[in-house]
Amino acid sequence: MTGKSSRFPEADLHCHTTSSDGLLTPRELVQAASKLGLKAVGITDHDTISGWNEAVAAGEELDVEILRGIELNTDWNGIEVHILGYEPSGESIPFQEKLRELREGRSNRIIKILGRLHDMNVKIAPEEIKAIAQGESIGRPHVAQVLVQRGYVETIKEAFDQYIGTGAPAYVPHLKLTPEEGINLIRTAGGVAVLAHPGINQLDHQILPWVKAGLQGIEVSHSDHTPEDEQHYRSLAKLYRLIMTGGSDFHGEECKPGVKLGGWGVSYEVTEEIRELAITSKR
Ligand SMILES: [Zn+2]
Ligand SMILES: [Zn+2]
Repeated sequence: MTGKSSRFPEADLHCHTTSSDGLLTPRELVQAASKLGLKAVGITDHDTISGWNEAVAAGEELDVEILRGIELNTDWNGIEVHILGYEPSGESIPFQEKLRELREGRSNRIIKILGRLHDMNVKIAPEEIKAIAQGESIGRPHVAQVLVQRGYVETIKEAFDQYIGTGAPAYVPHLKLTPEEGINLIRTAGGVAVLAHPGINQLDHQILPWVKAGLQGIEVSHSDHTPEDEQHYRSLAKLYRLIMTGGSDFHGEECKPGVKLGGWGVSYEVTEEIRELAITSKR
């Protein structure tokens, strides 16, 4: 049963809130999870843990267990690799400092993107982005939202395709950690390091080196995975004895149409497995 996703998973371990680029506040996300009858959710905002407290408080009230997580964007030879971290210690000073550095890199990147858009006669002020980004971790989806609001494009997808997506004219790469550095950052803070949605970049040959660097899990159930991907990564996880996690990567339905909270995930026991592994790591 472990790691098995069903049509109605008990736990959605990959969710974004307004602390990064999601549309629901941590409290609203937990309320939505409670309505759906989810037993547990993982809060995995990009480069920030600022949503944890609000989510945990709401979870206690509404009887939804919160797995405290993070998602780090790392870079392997120009390919974006996302590493999820579960239950790292929020008290760890090196961890907090590194996250702050990464967030500063994010805002510098957004300023550069706005500069490129300006050169294309698309004039957006940094204040407009800040007004939309409620949390401390800003990202391209916020720029996309402003592009839609201001009528430059009709949808978020068009904003990425025409302006800010990889290879588009206003695209600026992210200042990033290597996957090993990301794994190490999470492990040093006592967290469990998991490779997010490996089906997107299919760097299977890199999984073993990352396991040697401390990777402990693979996200097998994910909104971007085909049933074949899920099957494939399930067997790789077994082969390397890795924990199998899963989640929707929910950002809010207006942001990612069709990606529903609780639409992907795992059985509740996986939450317990992750906690146990995190406790063992902290010893
Ligand atoms: Zn991701
Ligand atoms: Zn994500």
